[in-house]
Amino acid sequence: MCLFCEILNGNIPSTKVYEDDMIYAFKDINPVAPVHFLVVPKEHIGSVNDVTAENSKYVAHIFEKIPEIAKSQGIDSYRVISNCGKDAGQTVLHLHFHVIGGTELGENII
Ligand code: 5GP
Ligand code: ZN
Repeated sequence: MCLFCEILNGNIPSTKVYEDDMIYAFKDINPVAPVHFLVVPKEHIGSVNDVTAENSKYVAHIFEKIPEIAKSQGIDSYRVISNCGKDAGQTVLHLHFHVIGGTELGENII
């Protein structure tokens, strides 16, 4: 079972920032900015490469909720990143969106 499925199952502790029946958001263990949380689907999807017509509802729901979750963390300006694959630096093979903010972000992360 992948690391984020273990977190979803409660086998590995995490700091929740939002949860509903489809998605879970929690603080990144190694934050790169004052606000840095991850949003994941509750169904295992490997990466952006594995998004399909059948499971894209999770992605849509994540983006519907990100503004509300970000606001709950005190920010309305932020960067959303999903690393897909080895060259992009994806280390956990469960689709996740980094939401990063709370400071002026450098221009060179895109
Ligand atoms: P990736 O590099 O795959 O885009 O992002 C994986 C992220 O998961 C990293 O930012 C890393 O800090 C975070 N991470 C790895 N292990 C854990 C963990 O056990 N708990 C939490 N909360 N975050 C983790
Ligand atoms: Zn998983």
